[in-house]
Formats: sequence, C-alpha cells, structure tokens
Amino acid sequence: MPRKVSIFGATGSIGQNTLDLIRRDINTYEIIALTGGANVEQLARDARELGAQVAVTAYDDRLGELRDALGGSGVEAAAGAHALQEAAERPADWVMSAIVGAAGLKPGLTALRHGGTLALANKESLVTAGPLLMAEARAHGAQVLPVDSEHSAVFQALVGEDVGAVERIVITASGGAFRDWPLEKLKTATPEQASQHPNWAMGQRITIDSASMFNKALELIETHEYFGISPDRIEAIMHPESLVHALVCFCDGAIMAHVGPHDMRHAIGYALHWPERRDLPVERLNLARIGALTFRAADEARWPALRLAREVMQTGGLAGAVFNAAKESALDGFLAREIGFTQMPEIVERVLTLMSVDYSLSSAQIVLDNVLEMDRVARQYAAEAIRAVT
Ligand code: NDP
Ligand code: MG
Repeated sequence: MPRKVSIFGATGSIGQNTLDLIRRDINTYEIIALTGGANVEQLARDARELGAQVAVTAYDDRLGELRDALGGSGVEAAAGAHALQEAAERPADWVMSAIVGAAGLKPGLTALRHGGTLALANKESLVTAGPLLMAEARAHGAQVLPVDSEHSAVFQALVGEDVGAVERIVITASGGAFRDWPLEKLKTATPEQASQHPNWAMGQRITIDSASMFNKALELIETHEYFGISPDRIEAIMHPESLVHALVCFCDGAIMAHVGPHDMRHAIGYALHWPERRDLPVERLNLARIGALTFRAADEARWPALRLAREVMQTGGLAGAVFNAAKESALDGFLAREIGFTQMPEIVERVLTLMSVDYSLSSAQIVLDNVLEMDRVARQYAAEAIRAVT
C-alpha cells in the first residue's frame, strides 16, 4: 500500500525540498493534498505531476486561476482557510506542516486527528500552542517529528537515551546576515540585506528572523515545548559554520553533537523515513577539509529577541502566542519599511509588556480559541505600537 502523504506549504522552501525527496520514490507514495499560497502556478504544476487528490491555495481569490491551471488533470482545486482545514481532514499517514507563521497551527492540529505522523517544520505551532499540540498528538496516538534542523538534531541525539539524564540542550545559531555587523549599523539594515543568509537557503521570513535572532528565540521556546526541558537548561550558541546543529549534554559529562550539511533535506528525510535511516541526496561532509568548527557565546544584549524568549518561557501560558503574533506583525512592518530592523524587538517587547498587564497570559488556558484570540489581539497591539513610532 502506498503511503498517503499531504504537504501543507508545498510551494515553499521546505515544501519543495520535501517534494524533491518524495519524487525520488514516487511509486511508494500517494499524494493526498498539496497546499500553497500565492504561488498557484507551482502548486498546480506539482499537483498535476504528482497526481494529488486536491490542491489548495490559501487565498480565496486565486481559486479561478488554480482551477484553470489544473484543468483536465483530475486534481480537485480548492481555496481559502476552510479548504485548508478540509484538506487536513483527509486521512494521511504522513503530513508535512510547512506553512509559514501561525497560519500553520490549525491544519497541523487537525491532521493529528488521524493518528499518523506530523512532520513539523512550522515551529510557530509549538511556540503559540505547544502544550495543546502535544496533548492533541497524545490523545490521537499521533507522532510529532521535528523538522527544524536543530530539533531534528536533538531528537536524533536522544535516540535510546533517557531524557532524565540530559543536563542541557544547546542549539546552534549561524547569526544570520548581520552576525559580523557592528551594533550601530544594524539600525540601517534593509529587508534586502536581511534576506541574505550566509549558509542556508530558506523562505524570506525565516531568513530575516535569522538575522534578527527571532528565529533562534522561537527555537529556544520550541525546544522547551517539544522536549519538555526547563528553560534554564536550554541555550543558544553562535556557530558560524552551521554544521553542528545541536548538542545534547548528559549528566556524565558526555556531549552528543549532531553534525551534518546545511541542507534541510536531511531533517525532512529523517522525519520521512523515521524510525529508519535511508540514503539521502545530501552532501557528505569532509571534516578534514573543513578543518575547524568554531563557537562563541550568543550575546543576549546584542540580540534582544533571545532575552524576550526567556521572558516568554518564564511567563508561559499564552505568552508564546502573543510573542509570535507580535513578531510576525513587526516583521510585516519591517518588510513594508514602516519600522527599522532594530525596532522589531522593541515592538514585540512593547506588545508583551502591555498585554501582560491587560490579560492574564500565564494563567489562561491553552485552548485553540484562546490561542487564536490572543494571536488576533496581539496583532492589533502591534499595529498600534508600529503606528506610534511611525
Ligand atoms: P516559505 O515562505 O518558503 O514557504 C511558506 C509556505 O507557506 C508556502 O507554501 C506559502 O505559499 C505558504 N503560505 C504562506 N502564507 C500562508 C498562509 N497565510 N496560509 C497558508 N499558507 C501560506 O517558508 P519556509 O519553507 O522557509 O518555512 C516554512 C516553515 O518551516 C516555517 O514555519 C519556518 O519557520 C519553518 N522552517 C523552515 C526552514 C527552512 O529551511 N526554510 C528551516 C526550519 C524551519 P506561497 O509561497 O505559494 O505563497
Ligand atoms: Mg532551525
């Protein structure tokens, strides 16, 4: 029986890497749903080629275009948030969650109900609603496998280990586009400059989040939510080469480091074939040629996003949903050139501060309605905070 797979965010960087792996072995898969956003042409091309059951664009007004592009293929065309949910309701054994942003939460939660595997690239799901997502997976006997490279690395380093023997988890950060820029110059950084990652080829939003360290901030929270390790035992360390993805430090002094090329097909492939390891089309590292791997402390004064992540983990509850939504809005503001690069963490901090006073973030119940409401409200607070500085 072919394995039924669905890919949410199929037109993106993670989605396309996932399809690259699936194409190599297409006869063993049955493609249920492929989803995308604005890139309707790519979505239709892939859905047609792979014989998907349904192709969904997130945008209602793109339905006609998608239908035309799929004409005569036998692939159903659908559009909008409701159609994304309907696609997630279709039973699948393996679902890739690779929509960018909080928009990925609901389809991921729904897909868990089939009790299959959710390969989770959408870190925002864990940041906004980690306890809810993990509880839903347990309730339905579903498996959530991390696809973020650092978290896949930790997961792999923990195979056969007792989590109780873990002292610390260290995730690495390349430092993004501005790792060597003087602090003063950061104020002048443009979206174009922030969109150039020194090592990884990724979607634009996560690339800018890497430059601001918001990506690493989200990943600290993701580590806490996924592995259940207390925040004081999780840290980020700068590692410009991006070859060691994470280190797990055990109580006997041993450190298990995961080393691999910066190619997301490794983490995606691991989640696709887990619990087996299969041959993957990624570069084999020649450590003698690489010569040196370097590390340095991550300066939390330089990167306020890291300090804010600690505060969010301290507060708990719905603080993660507020943090993520404010971050997404601040990023939109930066992309629209309404605020500067260094104003992004200022906006996020302002929203967190105000909403901590106006709402009981730490004690609120982490249920979907509350998460979505805090997400919505945080975007309003962020829009106001952006207006106030422009
Ligand atoms: P991309 O921007 O490349 O792709 C995002 C995907 O989501 C696209 O298919 C896009 O459609 C779709 N999309 C965008 N907005 C919406 C929306 N509102 N509703 C539904 N679908 C939408 O992102 P990445 O692939 O880089 O990242 C995807 C996720 O994986 C993110 O959560 C990111 O943090 C995470 N991740 C990514 C890594 C990477 O290497 N890229 C590494 C680790 C984690 P379209 O393009 O057609 O508009
Ligand atoms: Mg990562």
